[in-house]
Amino acid sequence: MAEAEGNGGPRQVAVIGAGIIGICCALYLQRDGHQVTVLDPQPPGEGCSRGNSGIFALVHCVPDSTPGLVWQVPGMMLDPLGPLIVRPSYLLKALPWLLRFLAASRRGPFEAGFAALYAMTQHALVAYQPLVESAGAQDMVRKQGWLLVFESDESFAKEKPYKVDMSSRAGIRLEVLDGKGARELEPALSPSIRHGVFYPEVAHSTDPFRFVQVLAEDFRRKGGTILAERVTGFEMGPRGPTVVHTEAGRHTPDSVVLAAGAYSKPLARMLGSRIPLDTERGYHAMLPDPRVSLKVPVMSGDFHCALTPMAEGLRVGGSVEFAGVHAAPNYARVDKLVSVGHRVLPGLNDAGHTRWMGCRPSLPDSLPVVSRSPRYPTVYFAFGHGQVGLTNAGITGKLIAELMAGRPTTIDTTPYRADRF
Ligand SMILES: Cc1cc2nc3c(=O)[nH]c(=O)nc-3n(C[C@H](O)[C@H](O)[C@H](O)COP(=O)(O)OP(=O)(O)OC[C@H]3O[C@@H](n4cnc5c(N)ncnc54)[C@H](O)[C@@H]3O)c2cc1C
Repeated sequence: MAEAEGNGGPRQVAVIGAGIIGICCALYLQRDGHQVTVLDPQPPGEGCSRGNSGIFALVHCVPDSTPGLVWQVPGMMLDPLGPLIVRPSYLLKALPWLLRFLAASRRGPFEAGFAALYAMTQHALVAYQPLVESAGAQDMVRKQGWLLVFESDESFAKEKPYKVDMSSRAGIRLEVLDGKGARELEPALSPSIRHGVFYPEVAHSTDPFRFVQVLAEDFRRKGGTILAERVTGFEMGPRGPTVVHTEAGRHTPDSVVLAAGAYSKPLARMLGSRIPLDTERGYHAMLPDPRVSLKVPVMSGDFHCALTPMAEGLRVGGSVEFAGVHAAPNYARVDKLVSVGHRVLPGLNDAGHTRWMGCRPSLPDSLPVVSRSPRYPTVYFAFGHGQVGLTNAGITGKLIAELMAGRPTTIDTTPYRADRF
């Protein structure tokens, strides 16, 4: 079996991508004694970590493609500023992904997806722990809980079977609240909020960008190398790449980990695997002086919009837009997020807010690829974490190190294999 082929000894490893996934893989590989070089044209964290909502969403185990979704998607897509949109010019390109996404909503695949996400998230914080402790970043992970709120009975009824019933059956701790109970927790919430679900085990980071930088600094301090180089191609031998080409030169590592987020698809192809990766582009508004305070991050279940108290102010983030990695941002989507912010928190001040767009690396079954290449034994894949890449980066790094060493893995990696499509 390929997974048993790991040969334990220290090697030269190239990690492609310095996002949270690449940095966590690099740190875990470094702990195993490998000499690790991270290649990325951008400084660590400049991808999705620059603007995500900062939630270690240990309860986010429900795949996005829920049963019955097929009937809801057309309605969702009619609103050009709704939570999910496919740009008309991108529809044909997105179609195969969308069809797989709808296929994943069948009861069997959906339940398997839940189990596989649950397995990862159960180990998410534990796997981060040694990395966070070593970097002295304990105060950057705050375990204060997460509050999901609804103003519409209909939205709550739609989400309850998954976010409450299925989750509590799986053992996720949660508390169902009415509007009054939600406002007792967060007095700034609108009187229009009628339902809440509080998840006490969830943690958040008040600066997910700085979090990656701090982890990357620790990696460097311990002898790791980060080079500002874009990978452009490979020279392939029978066991994997013999040369990694970058815009600046060439490298000859023993093993390669591909962790380039939403940009991984063409590189995976060059490494022998066709993976149906696309991007669900997300947006945020950063409000520097919100004039309302939240004790814990809040998520609007009606509008799929996250409100996270951060070091720089209040971040209002969300939106899923299919338009590929290269199209210009549509900042009207940020205006929509800000309007949701006002609706959930009536006293909100949005003066001076900044706007951001980032490319979530997404696979249609909501699961990442965390796998040895099915084709080349020296190639590993770690990408496609979609909505929960910050959450599951630590466990991903740990699994990649275990696969490379040929050790038994912390969880069964079969659901995340590269050849499952
Ligand atoms: C609005 C929004 C909110 C989110 N909120 C949350 C949240 O609350 N909790 C959560 O868990 N997740 C959240 N996410 C998702 C999470 O941010 C991502 O899943 C995660 O950051 C992906 O990390 P990554 O390292 O795979 O990709 P990225 O952070 O995008 O990093 C990929 C890196 O690869 C580099 N790269 C690309 N091409 C090449 C190349 N050819 N050679 C070398 N390097 C290359 C890029 O420069 C980039 O630095 C959110 C995402 C968005 C957009």
